[in-house]
Amino acid sequence: MPEKVRINSADVKYTEKHIESRYCYNTASVRRDGDTFTVTPSSTEFIFRTERKVPRLGVMLVGWGGNNGTTVTAAVLANKLGLTWKTKTGVKKANYFGSLLESSTVCLGSGPDGEVYTPFRDLLPMVHPNDIVFDGWDISSLDLGRAMERAQVLDWSLQEKLRPHMSQIKPRPSVYIPEFIAANQEQRADNLIRGSKVEQIRRDIRDFRKKSGVDKVIVLWTANTERFCDVFPGVNDTAENLLNTIQTGGEVSPSTMFAVASVLEGCAYINGSPQNTFVPGAVDLALQRGVFISGDDFKSGQTKLKSVLVDFLISAGIKPTAIVSYNHLGNNDGLNLSAPQQFRSKEISKSNVVDDMVQSNPVLYRPGEKPDHCVVIKYVPYVGDSKRAMDEYTSEIMMGGTNTIALHNTCEDSLLASPIILDLVILTELCQRITFCTQDDPVFQGFHSVLSLLSFLCKAPLVPQGAPVVNAFFRQRACIENVMRACLGLPPQNHMQLEHKMK
Ligand code: NAD
Repeated sequence: MPEKVRINSADVKYTEKHIESRYCYNTASVRRDGDTFTVTPSSTEFIFRTERKVPRLGVMLVGWGGNNGTTVTAAVLANKLGLTWKTKTGVKKANYFGSLLESSTVCLGSGPDGEVYTPFRDLLPMVHPNDIVFDGWDISSLDLGRAMERAQVLDWSLQEKLRPHMSQIKPRPSVYIPEFIAANQEQRADNLIRGSKVEQIRRDIRDFRKKSGVDKVIVLWTANTERFCDVFPGVNDTAENLLNTIQTGGEVSPSTMFAVASVLEGCAYINGSPQNTFVPGAVDLALQRGVFISGDDFKSGQTKLKSVLVDFLISAGIKPTAIVSYNHLGNNDGLNLSAPQQFRSKEISKSNVVDDMVQSNPVLYRPGEKPDHCVVIKYVPYVGDSKRAMDEYTSEIMMGGTNTIALHNTCEDSLLASPIILDLVILTELCQRITFCTQDDPVFQGFHSVLSLLSFLCKAPLVPQGAPVVNAFFRQRACIENVMRACLGLPPQNHMQLEHKMK
């Protein structure tokens, strides 16, 4: 299909297979002498190549029968079928609100009637969510029709329309190691892999690929939050040690087994939960095999807001001194997180989110100084999937003044997470079709296996060793937009609008 956005420039070529762009990447290096900074700008010429053919994408969800797993599957089905349904406030229509790619726009430039915006999805050729084929695993054997009912996320009349389709789908058996998730999950665990776990997951991936006829498979963990895993030399510190530990039956978390199996099958693996699935051995394996991994933990509600609000405060020169976040939720995720070790994983994932913004402002913060930051999560069954997030941001303002912002956010958790799942897999697939080279290094290469471009969608972004972690919302978004613009030979969005500032 021809692209909706075509670039009219000598720097951009459309061949049968690729969009090829010449792009000038401008950065600066800084030297500090006492209080003086010397800044040296530099430019590197890149060639970006994006494959134009969009493959048929298969996505395998670990935790398919959970709230997110059933909601994202149902939402795609409802969109594909163009479903509408009645609620007490009127007729609703299936949509993809909350998806960066499907429902947000980017500015292309000016036309005769002013600025022209296009949906993100039209910038480069990418998979449409309606075309994704789903499969997956769950330790609970419920079919997806009953699992969708158990989740209590979608309106009943919509569930009735979807049930004939959803109840025909059953998750594949999965890996259950009781000590990794809360004891309160035990009664769901009736659908388990017997025998060699990693081998069975690999067989499942191959089986799905063959039966569905998809060109590519991406695996995404949206199962329960596990406890953190200890990293031991000789056990999980290198790819070789991790593979040996799996062989000999030593301690490896189910999520790490899924990551290893996916990487061995050449499938990108995304971690939507906070646990440290990507122990050094798993990262090492992904690097050796040149397969994308990404995570951790979907950035859907409270943390997303935090990465906007703290960015706003600090970049306005206001000094947040105490951030207190309280959540209560009543879904199965909340039940699992009511156990101390699983809560701890979430607490760690939620706690570093303001660090980059704090470190960016030495006027407000001394080296090592941070705001007090406290996160509380409580299980309250009655509220179900409709999570309450209450935050208090206390900041120091001019002349010893105090500014306090209190927020109450009622957010339907899985309806926020589902579009993020779609963005994660679609962006990952797009990144698999992008390669680039420079004059100094003329061999085309892809992105680093640790796919930090997805940071925008993750609470605790995984980045290549030594790379800075960016949590600030608009910097993360600008990164995705500007990388895509680079693929089209367009300069970064600068918002200067000089043409409107001249006499
Ligand atoms: P859920 O409890 O409804 O679903 C998880 C599913 O995983 C369950 O069906 C469970 O049976 C299954 N499961 C557990 N261990 C498994 C294993 N080893 N293999 C296969 N299946 C397994 O939870 P949810 O609300 O769908 O959230 C899923 C995950 O996403 C949680 O870890 C949560 O912390 C994370 N998360 C959710 C949001 C959000 O919903 N807004 C945001 C960030 C992160």
